[in-house]
Amino acid sequence: MRILLLGKNGQVGWELQRSLAPLGELIALDRHSVDGLCGDLSDLEALRATIRQIKPDIIVNAAAYTAVDKAESDVELADRVNGEASRLLGEEAALLGALLVHYSTDYVFSGEGHRPWQETDAVAPVNRYGASKLAGEQAITVSGCKHLIFRTSWVYGARGNNFAKTMMRLAKDRETLSVIADQIGAPTGADLIADVTALTIRQVLQRPELSGLYHLAAAGEVSWHGYASYVIEFAQTNGEQLAVTTISAIDTTAYPTPARRPLNSRLNTQKLRDNFSLHLPDWQSGVIRMLREVLNK
Ligand code: NDP
Repeated sequence: MRILLLGKNGQVGWELQRSLAPLGELIALDRHSVDGLCGDLSDLEALRATIRQIKPDIIVNAAAYTAVDKAESDVELADRVNGEASRLLGEEAALLGALLVHYSTDYVFSGEGHRPWQETDAVAPVNRYGASKLAGEQAITVSGCKHLIFRTSWVYGARGNNFAKTMMRLAKDRETLSVIADQIGAPTGADLIADVTALTIRQVLQRPELSGLYHLAAAGEVSWHGYASYVIEFAQTNGEQLAVTTISAIDTTAYPTPARRPLNSRLNTQKLRDNFSLHLPDWQSGVIRMLREVLNK
């Protein structure tokens, strides 16, 4: 089994290097070319040539244009990386008879209401990043290739920057933090996403009828304010010296950004859990694990 992993150094890509390794021969690329192989999703023809050269049985695409605010002005590149490259991967996977695994986002939804989104709900992205990710998943669906598309939310990894680390850094110097309290979702570990990916790949290879679109997020829900409070309380209880005394809850409208964010990022994961007999742990257990790793506790 030959597996091509794209975006190997992103949060999810890094964890996939670990979780995919036991499944077969793993060829992992980032945006830089090595040995004549191109993993740059903005260079469509070189990417196509690379796939034809490698002839993978499985393509896992963890690369994406993820700079949500920048995508508002960098539309052409966001669309190429998230939309057109995904189309190309779908086309090439279909030609090879390969399985394509791809990641998308709750940002394909409007963010209205309070109900967790189901895979069958109407999409209506509120920003350019969401629109580009939607174009990517739709292109893969119509390509006719065997695929697993996982829409996820609020991804963090122990490696690299994440919201929890930023909150701890700010809490060291500031007495008051203001954090958005009206956006609700589930922080989801890159390690969980990578493990679920490996488990579902094994099953879909045996049962191709499981191919499709799935929502994948940790269980439970919280606001960014609740998440920040949880992280800071954990850090303080575990001996971190923080200056912060007040964590104020603010509305999204008090923190304007170039890209609008959906308020309701809840994802209903029933389909994934039922089809693959999986259990998804609550968001707190993964966050604690990441915090222990980061704080060395
Ligand atoms: P990261 O931003 O951590 O990783 C994305 C990776 O894509 C980076 O390594 C980046 O490389 C790479 N990349 C960007 N542009 C290109 C390009 N032109 N060619 C090749 N590689 C490129 O994202 P995550 O791991 O968090 O995200 C994984 C998936 O999950 C993505 O599909 C994302 O849309 C989705 N998702 C993420 C969420 C989140 O909160 N992060 C929420 C919901 C969905 P470089 O570092 O060199 O720029």
